[in-house]
Amino acid sequence: MKTAIVRETLGIDQIKQNQTAPKKNILIEQIKNFFDRDDVSRATAGKRETVTYKKRKMQKRYLLDTMKNLHRSFIKEIPGERCCYSYFIKHRPFYVKPPTVGARETCLCRTHINAQYMINILHRNKIIPHPNMNELIASTVCSTYNGACMTGNCQECKTKQIVYYTRDDHQLVKWPQWIRASEMIEKSGKKVRITKNVKETSEGTVSKLIENFNRTLVELKKHIYKIKIQYKSYRAAIDNLKNDEVVLHVDFSENYNCKHFEEVQSHHFGGSRKQITLHTGVMYTKNEGEDKPTVTSFCTISGNNSHNPVSIWAHLHPVISAIKADYPHITTVHFFSDGPATQYRQKLNFHFICSKIFKDYNFIRVTWNFFEAGHGKGTADGVGGYLKRTADEKVATGLDISDAETFFHILKQLSKVRLYLVTDSEIHNVEKTVPKNLVPLQGTMQVHQVFTDIPDELQYRDLSCFCQRGFCACMNPKKYQPVPVSVVDTNGEINCSDRLNEKKILANISNIVTVPRKTYYSTFCTSSSSSNDEPLANVVQPSVSYVNEKQLIEKENVHPLKIFDGVHVLVKVASVKDKYYTYLGVAKSEVDEEGEIKIMFYKTVDGTGKRFKAVETDISYEPYENILEIVPNPKMIVKGKRVYFDFDQPLNVFEK
Ligand SMILES: [Zn+2]
Ligand SMILES: [Zn+2]
Ligand SMILES: [Zn+2]
Repeated sequence: MKTAIVRETLGIDQIKQNQTAPKKNILIEQIKNFFDRDDVSRATAGKRETVTYKKRKMQKRYLLDTMKNLHRSFIKEIPGERCCYSYFIKHRPFYVKPPTVGARETCLCRTHINAQYMINILHRNKIIPHPNMNELIASTVCSTYNGACMTGNCQECKTKQIVYYTRDDHQLVKWPQWIRASEMIEKSGKKVRITKNVKETSEGTVSKLIENFNRTLVELKKHIYKIKIQYKSYRAAIDNLKNDEVVLHVDFSENYNCKHFEEVQSHHFGGSRKQITLHTGVMYTKNEGEDKPTVTSFCTISGNNSHNPVSIWAHLHPVISAIKADYPHITTVHFFSDGPATQYRQKLNFHFICSKIFKDYNFIRVTWNFFEAGHGKGTADGVGGYLKRTADEKVATGLDISDAETFFHILKQLSKVRLYLVTDSEIHNVEKTVPKNLVPLQGTMQVHQVFTDIPDELQYRDLSCFCQRGFCACMNPKKYQPVPVSVVDTNGEINCSDRLNEKKILANISNIVTVPRKTYYSTFCTSSSSSNDEPLANVVQPSVSYVNEKQLIEKENVHPLKIFDGVHVLVKVASVKDKYYTYLGVAKSEVDEEGEIKIMFYKTVDGTGKRFKAVETDISYEPYENILEIVPNPKMIVKGKRVYFDFDQPLNVFEK
């Protein structure tokens, strides 16, 4: 199927095949294509996660919904045609599997794999009858396609629960989980903090596992809904493409390791191998009078292995320049990519989107859409795979590919993919345009679409919408200026620790407190006088997904910059039946790139709400949105072997 995808993106043979194929084959092809979609199944990356059938070795994909539900949505997509359930099942590609026991560690998505681990343990202990994630989800909602159901806002199903068959709530169980952990590493003499995924084993009673799983399920449903909406937007962008628009789906392919023929021959590879960066993509354009968009694949190649926004825009430059030359009437660019915080989904890229698109390339509208985390690989990735395989084949016939230039020259003769070379000096030229005073967008990891038709500012929201080609007021988009226009001058008190840099906070707030369709200046300087009199921290409105106004008001005094190791907080913890508990915790980290904080929890000792003990084993990563309040640091009281933490005022905790 990978070759089929590549064939499609390269525009080879596709039309010819379809024209000669009988109607039945078209339906089979439709079913196969359906199952391969990123909103229907998810890709895996592990080398061992493959299936071989009739000598075809394929990477496994896991279904994202039950077969029944998928059949229902497939039927809706082929109006006027018939396809019964058994026919649909029969033609599911052999490598697309339900996500049961299989899900291995190399799976691309942490949310999915952690949920599956819990399901497997619940099933092994006979607490749930089967380990099918999709069936379990379907049993708790009216429809997996309904946003209200999947985000816990449907009156009908918001209290609906999985039925657990427990005999002994106190039985101890263990379950593995992938968590984000940060550690310091040394990189070219400097100490840098990196966050990475680490597999840990959680341990607790059956009821704790169930409680954790219910919480995970809430996140998983939102996650699946976001996957579907983002993919639907992608399809809408392409299927209804206008003549003056271009869709660019971009992705960094895994770096190519340079190879020499002799090394391949001897299976002996030298110690440090040179790598080549491949920024791949697929471009959709629409010609006058044609029904279907034209698909062009491209790849920019560089010996410089940086993947940051500076490099991204150096890599995009030849591609966008070609669009300007070939399609001078195009005014609007729609980008689609995955959303790693170090590459596409971050302040510098946001800045380039709303500056370069207008100033360097003279477009008048741009949207950038992020696929849901862990589910953004698709056709763009297929292009990289195709090029690397072709390069390897060449090496096997006696050629050496020792650097980016050679890769470029050899592949240019062989493939239909448009190739461009990106030099170090081109990357340095972009580097020179980086402004110094960029401010981050708080809640960046929740953002799935940014769009603008005004230079130097962006509107952003939690999910993409293409009802008006990306430019609509659905879901109440907020405004953000990566480079603030003016410096806020205020006498407002900031009630926080002296460890913080006040200016930094102001810069941040200037970007959070914005109202859609109003300039930054008017929001801040013409608003009622009361907001100037109040401490600034009170008007902070972090952008958070699925949060209503009430929740925002509750968040007085909380700001991401005020949270760091040692700060005590009240945390909202979701539980069953839409209930929330409030726990005391202490931050063990700052807010990380994914918007999460490492937190160690406490438990009350008596009924006063003033005395707590630390539960050192109860540590988890909580999203910033769940922080309700920052509380003063407690006094430590030692009584014999016991250590208590006392607060002057009772805390508003609500523990299970
Ligand atoms: Zn996932
Ligand atoms: Zn519902
Ligand atoms: Zn809309």
